[in-house]
Amino acid sequence: MAAPARSPLEAWLRYFDDLGLGPFYVGRAAMELPAAGRPGALRAPDAAAAPVARLEQQARPSPVAAPVARAPRPQEAILPVVPSLFESAVRAGLEGDTLERIREDIGDCKRCRLCEGRNTIVFGDGNSQAQLVFVGEGPGHDEDVQGLPFVGRAGKLLTQMIEAMGLRRQDVYICNIVKCRPPGNRQPERDEVATCSPFLDRQLAAIGPKVIVCLGGVAAQTLLGTNKAISQFRGQWFEFRGAKLMATYHPAFLLRTPSAKSEVWTDLKKVMGVLGLKPPKPKPRSA
Ligand code: SF4
Repeated sequence: MAAPARSPLEAWLRYFDDLGLGPFYVGRAAMELPAAGRPGALRAPDAAAAPVARLEQQARPSPVAAPVARAPRPQEAILPVVPSLFESAVRAGLEGDTLERIREDIGDCKRCRLCEGRNTIVFGDGNSQAQLVFVGEGPGHDEDVQGLPFVGRAGKLLTQMIEAMGLRRQDVYICNIVKCRPPGNRQPERDEVATCSPFLDRQLAAIGPKVIVCLGGVAAQTLLGTNKAISQFRGQWFEFRGAKLMATYHPAFLLRTPSAKSEVWTDLKKVMGVLGLKPPKPKPRSA
């Protein structure tokens, strides 16, 4: 391999080593898989799990996206290969991965620029064997201070939603696409999502939930590999690595748009149906 191409590849291999993935080999065929053929990209519907929605295959808004027309910089040129490398490594050797090991591998992470403004890495919280996982976008101010996901106003609303489903917060697992707070609560950039989301991939694989609920567009677009607006596929079921995945609105959006709460409740009732949950009976009012 020519030296200019070798350098970014070596950097990525070091990165995977940091992730704890160990040595691996990916053949040319795997590297040339089209987006639709990659595990983790939006899958064909599962006939046994109707209704399962279809989305047109689109470029994933993370490093998985197809290269743009302009001449790529060296690191960008290697990016489309990375998901295949990662997922191959997952298939090859991460059975038995644990949340503790993943947290250990993250360490005092400085792999992307979000480390610069963070106070705390917000890894995730909840039941390591949860049947239901909520995935948000990234930590906000309160989460950054406390080191826990969804603890601010939006987090309190999420807790209420979980309890309305007949669950306790500690019954589910809650995490984000990126583990460090983006400055000014901006959306995480594409390269930040690309750098951090392998850890989320590992978390989801380690937990093995029955249902994943994406809260908001960034989480949904990242996991489903689509650029479509969440309003176009909210409330529909997708298959994601053996789990059922649904996207719904982020609780922060509901704080700004309370009229959307009924749509989210409709979505959560579908989740409850899959998990066999019934809403808790209202407590009798005292005289
Ligand atoms: S966002 Fe993720 S990849 Fe970036 S510094 Fe934080 S833990 Fe590391």
